[in-house]
Amino acid sequence: MKNIAVIGSGTMGNGIAHIFAQHGFSVTLIDISEDALKKAEATIEKNLGRQVEKGLIKEENKKNALANLSTTTFMKEGVRDAELVIEAATENIDLKLKIFKELDESTKPNTILASNTSSISITKIASITKSPDLVIGMHFMNPVPVMKLVEVIRGYRTSDAATAQIMELSKKLDKIPVEVNDYPGFIANRLLMPMINEAICALYEGVAGVEEIDTVMKLGMAHPMGPLQLADFIGLDVCLSILHVLYDGFGNPKYAPCPILVNMVQAGHRGVKTGSGFYQYKAASKELVVAERFRK
Ligand code: NAD
Repeated sequence: MKNIAVIGSGTMGNGIAHIFAQHGFSVTLIDISEDALKKAEATIEKNLGRQVEKGLIKEENKKNALANLSTTTFMKEGVRDAELVIEAATENIDLKLKIFKELDESTKPNTILASNTSSISITKIASITKSPDLVIGMHFMNPVPVMKLVEVIRGYRTSDAATAQIMELSKKLDKIPVEVNDYPGFIANRLLMPMINEAICALYEGVAGVEEIDTVMKLGMAHPMGPLQLADFIGLDVCLSILHVLYDGFGNPKYAPCPILVNMVQAGHRGVKTGSGFYQYKAASKELVVAERFRK
């Protein structure tokens, strides 16, 4: 594989484009928004610069990576020569189905179509295409250039050959791939979201405060971030929508989202991106301050 197309240039898409370009692949980054593409290019340049400063790559690697990258708002043209397309557009099932239907019609016959979805069924996405054996999940973690894991998700009809190719490719990106089957939440979110939800329920029931809950998990379990801070970082709306996927997918009440999470999302307190969640966030401040509502 040489030519890669990445659809969606937001948080994840720019990171995915970054690592492929850095490892010598020719990358076309595609978005519906010119603005998003401009921002992504600037972010990639800044993050490559940071890698140079830390001595992780050379200035020449940065230059080559930037030369490997092109951007477009025209999806059909952007994916025409791709051997692999990775979709990292907004988490919305109707949007993903529409994109995969278009990809099925616009790509070469053996192109592998991957999705970076956190929670949408790969089998469902594959069902809209004529080659479900070539559709697979490639679930990178945020921030992509830093995090080692790629959860490689096999849909019900994903072929052994496509899975093997994606596992190999992930290693070439200096990542560690883990193969999992396509069931709600895969492995990462099936384990993480119930823990986050339980932390929120413990807060809701008054068992302990925000800082206490996070401190127990940081110091007691050696987690780099407590579950409530992590929920803010991921986005409380994203956490809620993944819990809905688990709840609907398994039909098990143990995944029911805690009511306070539902309220926070409805009130627009969605974590870091809105400046307020379990903690409050101010630009340019790294201090972790518990949101006023949860202070004792
Ligand atoms: P984001 O909102 O930061 O970016 C999404 C981008 O998709 C936007 O730039 C938007 O303009 C673009 N887009 C929307 N419709 C499009 C279309 N039709 N064609 C091309 N581009 C389109 O979202 P994100 O956080 O980067 O998430 C992207 C995907 O990655 C989602 O499926 C999400 O579940 C998954 N994911 C996110 C994280 C995370 O921590 N943010 C982690 C793992 C996986």
